[in-house]
Amino acid sequence: MTGNHAELPVAARVRSLEERLIAAGLITDDELDGILTEVFESASPANGARMVARAWIDRAYAHRLIADGNAAAEELGFAAETTGYLLKAVENTPAVHNVIVCTLCSCYPTALLGPSPSWYKSFAYRSRVVREPRAVLAEFGLELAEGTEIRVWDANSETRYLVLPRPPESVSGMDEGTLASLVTRNGLIGTAAC
Ligand code: FE
Repeated sequence: MTGNHAELPVAARVRSLEERLIAAGLITDDELDGILTEVFESASPANGARMVARAWIDRAYAHRLIADGNAAAEELGFAAETTGYLLKAVENTPAVHNVIVCTLCSCYPTALLGPSPSWYKSFAYRSRVVREPRAVLAEFGLELAEGTEIRVWDANSETRYLVLPRPPESVSGMDEGTLASLVTRNGLIGTAAC
């Protein structure tokens, strides 16, 4: 290897890693493509939204989700998607709003939130949301009451977060699918109310 690997653009670093794995006989190009296709085809905020909708309807599930995110994901069939890291769900309440970031890079539970938006990976978001979360959230159109505590969770490759937004005023009479359709990717990140 020549040059400083860390200075290469991410795509080039990924490709160089892929080529080394292939050269070492650990995986073939086709196998690698297959894995990536599978990951990105199933990765969607609809998955995280399903977990939120279930938590809104079923308080016992919400408790399990907060206590053990991986087990709660597994209950809804997302076991394979959430292996390899600790999934922590953080719950919004009238007093506390949660927002997630990866200050180092862009860690996030992709399978449950879909591919991360470019702003999530931006240096501006990663640095500012820690220093001035209220101002950053306001720029997203989320104006929180003065008294609301904002908790910023810094993810890494081992621990990743999902925000459990506050439910609508009344969930009675709404089925899980309808409730899930109210949940957005930004709601799961915490840059939107829901
Ligand atoms: Fe990261």
